[in-house]
Amino acid sequence: MTIDEKTLKELLKDAPDHYRYISLKIDHAICRLSDGCRLCIDKCPTNAFYQKERVELIPELCIGCGACVLVCMVPGCIKLIRERKDTGRKEAVTTPKDVEKLLAALNIKKKRDVGRKVFEHIL
Ligand code: SF4
Ligand code: SF4
Repeated sequence: MTIDEKTLKELLKDAPDHYRYISLKIDHAICRLSDGCRLCIDKCPTNAFYQKERVELIPELCIGCGACVLVCMVPGCIKLIRERKDTGRKEAVTTPKDVEKLLAALNIKKKRDVGRKVFEHIL
């Protein structure tokens, strides 16, 4: 899947406020690096990946945004575990659908918060 700059910015902007990185694993048995895929390396906003014989991660740089999962051409190849800062709930993000669902949930929450603020102001 191609990721547009707006979505990438949204993921990047929200991630440090909302998530704590727990772990990220790549299933090298199904990774397509040997076929020339570098999507995760190219799209990671913090340059947390680098390439050796396999795709490797610098965990200290990962902010848990999920952009790599969103662009990876093999669903389930990247498994990101992150923790929600507000609830402490751990989320497994392994397919683009997971990222899209969580992004949509976050946007609904943001709209609700804005709505509450507006009504508080009016009342
Ligand atoms: S979740 Fe993926 S894209 Fe986002 S910072 Fe971590 S390694 Fe990079
Ligand atoms: S995007 Fe997925 S398939 Fe491509 S190199 Fe990264 S982990 Fe491997």
